[in-house]
Amino acid sequence: MSNKVPYEESQLYKIRHSLSHVMAQAVLEMFPEGKIAIGPPIEDGFYYDFDLPRPLTPEDLKNIEKRMRNILKKKHVFQRRELGAAEAKTFFAGQPYKIELIEGLEAGGVDENGEPLSASEPPVISTYKHDTFEDLCKGPHVDNLGEIHPRAFKLLKVAGAYWRGDEHREQLQRIYGTAWATPEELAKYLHRLEEAEKRDHRKLGKELDLFSTDADMLGGGLVQWHPKGGLIRHLAEEFCRKEHLANGYDLVYSPHIGKSTLWETSGHLGFYQESMYAPLVIDEQEYYLKPMNCPFHILMYKNDLRSYRDLPLRYAEWGTVYRYERSGVLHGLLRVRGFTQDDAHHFVQPDKMPEEIDFVLNFCLHILRSFGFTDFQAYLSTRPKGGKAVGDPEQWSEAELALEEALKRAGIPYDIDPGGGAFYGPKIDIKINDAIGREWQLSTIQFDFNMPERFDMTFIGEDGQPHRPYMVHRALLGSMERFFGVLIEHYGGAFPVWLSPVQAVLIPIADRHIAYCEEVANRLRAAGLRIEVDTGSDRMSNKIRLAQKQKIPYMLIVGDKEQEKDKVSLRLRDGQDLGPKDVATFEMMAFEAIASKA
Ligand SMILES: [Zn+2]
Ligand SMILES: [Zn+2]
Repeated sequence: MSNKVPYEESQLYKIRHSLSHVMAQAVLEMFPEGKIAIGPPIEDGFYYDFDLPRPLTPEDLKNIEKRMRNILKKKHVFQRRELGAAEAKTFFAGQPYKIELIEGLEAGGVDENGEPLSASEPPVISTYKHDTFEDLCKGPHVDNLGEIHPRAFKLLKVAGAYWRGDEHREQLQRIYGTAWATPEELAKYLHRLEEAEKRDHRKLGKELDLFSTDADMLGGGLVQWHPKGGLIRHLAEEFCRKEHLANGYDLVYSPHIGKSTLWETSGHLGFYQESMYAPLVIDEQEYYLKPMNCPFHILMYKNDLRSYRDLPLRYAEWGTVYRYERSGVLHGLLRVRGFTQDDAHHFVQPDKMPEEIDFVLNFCLHILRSFGFTDFQAYLSTRPKGGKAVGDPEQWSEAELALEEALKRAGIPYDIDPGGGAFYGPKIDIKINDAIGREWQLSTIQFDFNMPERFDMTFIGEDGQPHRPYMVHRALLGSMERFFGVLIEHYGGAFPVWLSPVQAVLIPIADRHIAYCEEVANRLRAAGLRIEVDTGSDRMSNKIRLAQKQKIPYMLIVGDKEQEKDKVSLRLRDGQDLGPKDVATFEMMAFEAIASKA
């Protein structure tokens, strides 16, 4: 396991935090009547929210950057002081947002950015000053601005932001910046941003006609899978279902709604209700759309008397669930309100649990690798402190140990998040690194000491007595929607051959080659490949460009020479020209690529 410094204590965090102060100073130099709100560091950078007399332009950003560089040059030192509330309000007179924040600090329970604090932290009002600028802040910053490389930051964009995230309050202008230790790191990051933009699944989803969302007519956070996207999902699910069946899983199906009694028993109406939608009423009974599949699988387990000989039971379901998300956080396929989990629940004899965890972790990695992910990072979350956890502490330790040992045996890097587990059990989250080095969370393997109790689940042991089984929830790809978003971005839409909706397109050079192309297409289709013939009137070079834009793996070009010799001229989507090939040779190549999932 690695011992990383938490981001909040890292030098990058201090650099980014300090730059948000420097940016605010630069903006106030340009707009002395401007009002400043909050300016925290964020992942990869920082922002600050301003209330300014006019909208900022791209030229303004350049100007602000220049002023920031000048401020950095002077290597100012940050100076901290503590103030009483009254003193602070006098000092920030004319800055209404700061006054509101100070009132929040005075009342307690929130920090200087209006974010909730744990009850034990006493409210302190402090400021940090560098040069002429003094801001309400609790740090940390760099010691002096000379620690920040003046060519290692960049202002990225201006976006609208509501004060306190409340659409009924003032609309502010938020300037986003990014900052790094060196200009080289900055350049790398900017390149990654550019790559990420090209790979944006919303953009590619439209260009490749894979899926759509429609907040106006359909509703936010609901996804339509178009024929090509639907085919990819079908292929992915078909592969996974086969693997599940070959690995001792049972495939089950459960309804989309269940009676309130079910959700009361499971506890969801107690601890999960804010993510659930209002009930519908059928025969004067309340029914809820399912936010999770677990209670149904438990009912199936309980439908019969279970013996230790029946265990482990592994119930898998591509279960569509509905969870409330604020409209502001919905994002393409990545954050939605209705999605299909590749869900499963394992019911296990307690003494067989370590083997079961080994099995599920290895199965998980096998599935992820099959989709081309090879770079993993696991996170083990353990028992929350302060008596919030249910279940016997000994069971927790046992489960945590099993999870950690399994991670060691699987040989993947992992970090421990002590106390970060849910109240009902420890878990492993597995994140993958994509083609451009971004981390995405996909799989979760989660113990549950709560639900077997709540549903009074039992099995008859070798001793003839009833015992409580262990229950493990797991999702490997996570949700099909989110996974598809990640897959699109990882491959930039150029899916491996086995997942490509169209695997090859035949391109006749002239109309007299169409008949031969159709005949070859039919041969290849009969062999099981997904083939199109471009019979359009475009020139060949345009047809090639179109096929490349559609990220079709193979282009088979046919002119007189190819037609005479029963060949096709093979080009790849990355532009490589492999020259004439026998149709049978191409067929073999394609099937090799499919078999290797390349
Ligand atoms: Zn600060
Ligand atoms: Zn579950």
